[in-house]
Amino acid sequence: CLAEIDAADALGAFVHKTPDIALDQARAADARISEGGATALPDMCGIPLGIKDLFCTQGVESQAASAILSGFRPEYESTVTRQLFDAGAVMLGKLNMDEFAMGSSNETSTYGNAVNPWRREGDDTALTPGGSSGGSSAAVAADLCLAATGTDTGGSIRQPAAFTGITGLKPTYGRVSRWGIIAYASSLDQAGPMTKTVRDAAIMLGAMAGHDPKDSTSADLAVPDFEAALTGDIRGKTIGIPREYRMDGMSDEIDALWREGTEMLRDAGATITDISLPHTKYALPAYYVIAPAEASSNLARYDGVRFGHRAKLGQGDGITEMYEKTRAEGFGHEVQRRIMVGTYVLSAGFYDAYYNRARKVRTLIKRDFEQVFEQGVDAILTPATPTAAFGLGEMTEADPVAMYLNDVFTVTLNLAGLPGVSVPTGLDRSGLPLGLQLIGRPWEEADLLNTAHALE
Ligand code: GLN
Repeated sequence: CLAEIDAADALGAFVHKTPDIALDQARAADARISEGGATALPDMCGIPLGIKDLFCTQGVESQAASAILSGFRPEYESTVTRQLFDAGAVMLGKLNMDEFAMGSSNETSTYGNAVNPWRREGDDTALTPGGSSGGSSAAVAADLCLAATGTDTGGSIRQPAAFTGITGLKPTYGRVSRWGIIAYASSLDQAGPMTKTVRDAAIMLGAMAGHDPKDSTSADLAVPDFEAALTGDIRGKTIGIPREYRMDGMSDEIDALWREGTEMLRDAGATITDISLPHTKYALPAYYVIAPAEASSNLARYDGVRFGHRAKLGQGDGITEMYEKTRAEGFGHEVQRRIMVGTYVLSAGFYDAYYNRARKVRTLIKRDFEQVFEQGVDAILTPATPTAAFGLGEMTEADPVAMYLNDVFTVTLNLAGLPGVSVPTGLDRSGLPLGLQLIGRPWEEADLLNTAHALE
């Protein structure tokens, strides 16, 4: 893996390589294998991983791909990476991403974009690996590591997984501890596995999940054996097809993929039923009010004093100038846009019109899902993304809303706190991977993964 990573610098997937840590952890895994005998070993023993730059890793640069955190080396390990390392996993390095996880193409990173290892047939255009976990998706798709951690606030695990032909799971909100993960929008953020297969996702989720007293929103629930649930038997399950996800102008290829997936689940013995999630069309605008609002508050801590970068000050500059110059230099344009939107929607005159209204819409979206689950639906099948991977630079020139529209199928479940998985299910006419998304009942990741397994 270390050699593959060095040979693949042009992909821009790894932003900090940690070969010394990797070799130490690999030797420790070897020792565990020779001491313990194969049966007692944890599932992740010796598995080489890439870690998204959003996770704090002790003594190793953790910058959320932002210049404002340049040089920041945390004193502590995030709960997720601690649990993975305790289970024997090996860290190869830190992975590229959109700055503070804000974006859908990995193009807002201070390190520059990551590149999708896939190309359209007969066309050399470099494509985005998706975002914000674009380094994770590129690294797994290019076989630089066996799996990677991702985080998903509005689609950042599932969309890059779909763009690169891998599997990505966003767990139920509270399943995985957020402690030590640099916060974007705290009520939406969840970490999850990005892997080659559904089985790998099940194994890795088992190592990442669990109650953590250091995260007050982490659920005190037992972690089931997700892998044991992969029986392949989905007979008697009810799969909902939401009519509101059949958007105007949806490509015939995405539509055909969706129908094929539906047929696969029907053939495997599931009952297919049309459902309605009437508030779907308000999800994207509600998300792009709530996420920036929380982000503007979370990012207030980057003040030039506590972490990373501080601007050079001129004669007579005081503390206000220090804050202003540091934040102007340290945050990229998209992050600044989110801070401005967020502070605007939270400001006294507009709080009710925007932020409070978005919170009410969020409740309605959550109720839509609750109602279909009460009617007996076990999982919901939708496309993961409106298109296959697009060209680097193709969307950045346009109005930012065009980029936000990428998240139209993924943001709904973050607002509702539900688990979702993107499974690679086919190729488009130009040979690029496409994914389908399954949305599950809260805390039913085991069942969700088993249904996803039937789509592989
Ligand atoms: N693209 C979305 C955004 O920019 C989602 C990002 C994410 O899930 N972290 O907010």
